[in-house]
Amino acid sequence: MDTRDTLRKLVEGKRDQIIALQKDLTAVPALAPQNGGTGEAEKARVLAGWLTRLGLGACESLPAADPRVPGGERPNLLLTLPGRSSDRSLWIMSHMDVVPPGELSLWESDPFTLVVKGDRLIGRGVEDNQQGLVSSVIAALCLKEAGLVPPRPVKLLFVADEETGSEFGIQALVKRPGLFRPTDEALVPDSGSEDGSQIEIAEKSILWLRFRVRGKQCHASTPQKGINAFEAGSHLVVRLGSLAQRYDARDPLFDPEVSTFTPTKKEANVPNVNTMPGEDVFYLDSRVLPREDVDEVLAHIRSICDGVQRDFGVGVDIQTVQRTSSPPTASDAPIVAALKRAVKEVYGVDGRTVGVGGGTVGAFLRKIGIPTVIWGKLGNAAHQPNEFCLLPNLMGDALVMARLMMGED
Ligand SMILES: [Zn+2]
Repeated sequence: MDTRDTLRKLVEGKRDQIIALQKDLTAVPALAPQNGGTGEAEKARVLAGWLTRLGLGACESLPAADPRVPGGERPNLLLTLPGRSSDRSLWIMSHMDVVPPGELSLWESDPFTLVVKGDRLIGRGVEDNQQGLVSSVIAALCLKEAGLVPPRPVKLLFVADEETGSEFGIQALVKRPGLFRPTDEALVPDSGSEDGSQIEIAEKSILWLRFRVRGKQCHASTPQKGINAFEAGSHLVVRLGSLAQRYDARDPLFDPEVSTFTPTKKEANVPNVNTMPGEDVFYLDSRVLPREDVDEVLAHIRSICDGVQRDFGVGVDIQTVQRTSSPPTASDAPIVAALKRAVKEVYGVDGRTVGVGGGTVGAFLRKIGIPTVIWGKLGNAAHQPNEFCLLPNLMGDALVMARLMMGED
């Protein structure tokens, strides 16, 4: 039997263990403090216990201090499978935290009690991100049982705090000197398509801005005595519409192919009809193609605001609410090619590289120079009531990961 058949047979034999592990992980609601939870410590303990019992060894603990949770730290766990050589580690990063169940009446069962219906596992977290997490564990286990040593180190990283900004997860870890090396590569099994073909390699820069237009409040019956901030702000939001024409480059990697500039939130101004507002506050959500210089975009937005200041006699303050950019992973990077081969072999589909408009944890790794792919064969039930994970997907993903871990062998 060749290696591929051996691994396939081993993965197929793991159904009961997969269900048991999913059950134990689902039973621990790992919610961030800002979601009313106590963090991931208990889930990390359960997971580390499983890894030890499976004979995969002890995890290295890489906690991040967070005084809001009992114990004062958020757990991050690292399990290393030594390779035949010590360079170019392959990272597989999944997250332990989950989002709250949301409206309980929309669930057909208790979100934190695993339900198995045929090939369908149901519960909060079973897909996001336990599918990827359990796949990586099963892949490592099958390699071990097959007596296979990967050509290079494999690092299974289980992080905290993905759902609420990653400050205590990957953002804390990339600051640790020497943990990651620029020659490393990473797979983040946390997003994908139903046929398993989608491989995410890039994201648009995110720029969220808050605009505060300052005029002068007065009685609405004597508008000449004030400056209407709402009216000036309305002109500003229309003028910002010109951004789409100025930054009109297209990149077919993304959907949509263009940079987007979308006015979104509006703060309340005066509570009554007969007061002319002296302040107007709104927000712009911009998703900018990686080729654009975000500093230049910001400078241009500032010049649009200056025009409104001159024309209406108002002041306009811009506050950056969020700003992130990361270099794309090259579409011909070795990890992309290796993943395409594995996906084709396991699922019979051609991988297609895509870019996304939303931010992902992959960006934190790309920022420190690590080629990173985000992939999984997913039903896209994340964050939904009755979240589910299909066992054939979890097992197929485990096989893909096992192939990646073994490289070209
Ligand atoms: Zn996730």
